[in-house]
Amino acid sequence: MDFPSRFDVIVIGGGHAGTEAALAAARMGVKTLLLSHNVDTLGHMSCNPAIGGIGKSHLVREIDALGGTMATATDLSGIQFRVLNARKGPAVRATRAQTDRALYKAAIRSVLENQPNLWIFQQSADDLIVEQDQVRGVVTQMGLRFLADSVVLTTGTFLGGLIHIGLQNYSGGRAGDPPSIALAKRLRELPLRIGRLKTGTPPRLDGRSIDFTQMTEQAGDTPVPVMSFLGKAEQHPQQVSCWITHTNTRTHEIIASNLDRSPMYSGVIEGIGPRYCPSIEDKIHRFADKDSHQVFLEPEGLSTNEYYPNGISTSLPFDVQLDLVRSIRGLENCHIVRPGYAIEYDYLDPRDLKYSLETKVIGGLFFAGQINGTTGYEEAGIQGLLAGANAALRAQDKDAWCPRRDEAYLGVLIDDLITLGTQEPYRMFTSRAEYRLILREDNADLRLTEKGRELGLVDDARWAVFEAKREGIAREEQRLKSTWVRPGTPQGDAVAARFGTPLTHEYNLLNLLARPEIDYAGLIAVTGGGCENAQVAEQVEIRTKYAGYIDRQQDEIARLRASENTRLPADIDYATISGLSKEITHKLSLARPETLGQASRIPGVTPAAISLLLIHLKKRG
Ligand code: FAD
Repeated sequence: MDFPSRFDVIVIGGGHAGTEAALAAARMGVKTLLLSHNVDTLGHMSCNPAIGGIGKSHLVREIDALGGTMATATDLSGIQFRVLNARKGPAVRATRAQTDRALYKAAIRSVLENQPNLWIFQQSADDLIVEQDQVRGVVTQMGLRFLADSVVLTTGTFLGGLIHIGLQNYSGGRAGDPPSIALAKRLRELPLRIGRLKTGTPPRLDGRSIDFTQMTEQAGDTPVPVMSFLGKAEQHPQQVSCWITHTNTRTHEIIASNLDRSPMYSGVIEGIGPRYCPSIEDKIHRFADKDSHQVFLEPEGLSTNEYYPNGISTSLPFDVQLDLVRSIRGLENCHIVRPGYAIEYDYLDPRDLKYSLETKVIGGLFFAGQINGTTGYEEAGIQGLLAGANAALRAQDKDAWCPRRDEAYLGVLIDDLITLGTQEPYRMFTSRAEYRLILREDNADLRLTEKGRELGLVDDARWAVFEAKREGIAREEQRLKSTWVRPGTPQGDAVAARFGTPLTHEYNLLNLLARPEIDYAGLIAVTGGGCENAQVAEQVEIRTKYAGYIDRQQDEIARLRASENTRLPADIDYATISGLSKEITHKLSLARPETLGQASRIPGVTPAAISLLLIHLKKRG
């Protein structure tokens, strides 16, 4: 049969991890196959069609900086954009977009279909070909054999997927899609630790039956933000509003009196669910003192009436779902288009993976996405990109790329998963990163695009934009540094009048910009010059204002790296070191590492603990 059967990289699964993985490998020039259940569901969003948010937009920008596609697809499909934490510091600012589900999927599909080196094929992967601890390929449902020495598994919630609505359950990968049973069975035969997790989704509502006059409107930001470093607001489709309503004591009574019919509370579901995306049952149970929770009514797209009621994910029986939805203000006559449900699925204990996302025991077998115990499109997408890139590097006989915690949220995500494992679906937060001020969403390109270019992920067009930005920043910083303002001159008086800061002596503009009361746009308005590229202006402003803190974090990183070989005395008593958690004290006492570097690689020993060890060693002298 004249059909391509040998590839350099095979990616199984066309969700968010799989599409970024396949694109990354193909962009790096290796012959790649993307094998997925259904070509029509490539890039499908299983839950809310929203991308970004706190901690997550940092990942999306990193995907973008590395040439991935999630941010661009979001710009082409986003129907409401907001910057969260806009009044807080730049480290925690986060862009969030509500997207049109159909437009998002179409954008992803178009990129996939036009990617050189990438073959797409619709089939279930049912078996892996493994020879002496090395993966050699994949066998599909109809018995086709595809061969490759690097295979990336990105099967999301599909492995052994079991859907629950009330006390009824049935097999499924997500509502409307088949589960992956044969492959799940095969993985359990391999020497890998497999566990069960759970996630859930709310019912979807018919917008024609919602009374929006009873709700608070939430419009997007103006000017409308963009997600990609290459994005332009003109690319966005029509922008629309979301709406806010609340649960009430009646809603809570309905839920509380039916908990015995909940699969979670009656013990039917074994897997643990996402702590930060809890079901409404969980919220009522965990926060029993609250008599109201916010519910956001979010449109699923411009060409559908469906709304996603964010905040009431549930797996209660359908009759209870209907009652609880209709007890909410504005939803009294609501029609449910799709019932809410929970799904349990197999995941791999990520401690079985190397930093490259290749398994420790089977050469060439990579895992990425929800299958590694994470939750969210963004967490999945970035893992996919890394696994795809490393699978391609392996095919090219090159060393893997393993980003560090101080380089990227990607580094934080992988380090957390590999060293700590996870017992519940892992979601990214800015609080997980110790070097937040350096790892901002606004500078992901400055941190990663050069690396992406070196790996072959970043094309000429993106590289040209990046280089222009980098040069623009250097030029503008130099101009500000060499432009002086003197007291008593028209410029000096204008600065004093605008910012209420009389100048006592001569300042350059960079010194002035460092002052908290002076902003870039205002300074340029009174002193002239400036640059038109908003991204350049933003960088210059943040770098100048936070220079002291940024330098301090960079010193800390350099110190930690330099202390890699610092020896830990054999007689050290970890129990006497203040600040170390009991768990870490126990682990260090058991392992007795010889150097700080070794200590830092013990699963569960955090960078904060290493800092405490450093302080202790300094005190000992
Ligand atoms: P998926 O998007 O699940 O994609 C897996 C892909 O693999 C699919 O295309 C599938 O067809 C394909 N596939 C599977 N097995 C095979 C096989 N054997 N052969 C070929 N193809 C295969 N995230 C949140 O952040 N918050 C939430 O509240 C939330 N709730 C969720 C609720 C539900 C009910 C579900 C299903 C998901 C929810 N998610 C939530 C998770 C979010 O959908 C995932 O994090 C994200 O989709 C993971 O991306 P992925 O690429 O790893 O897997």
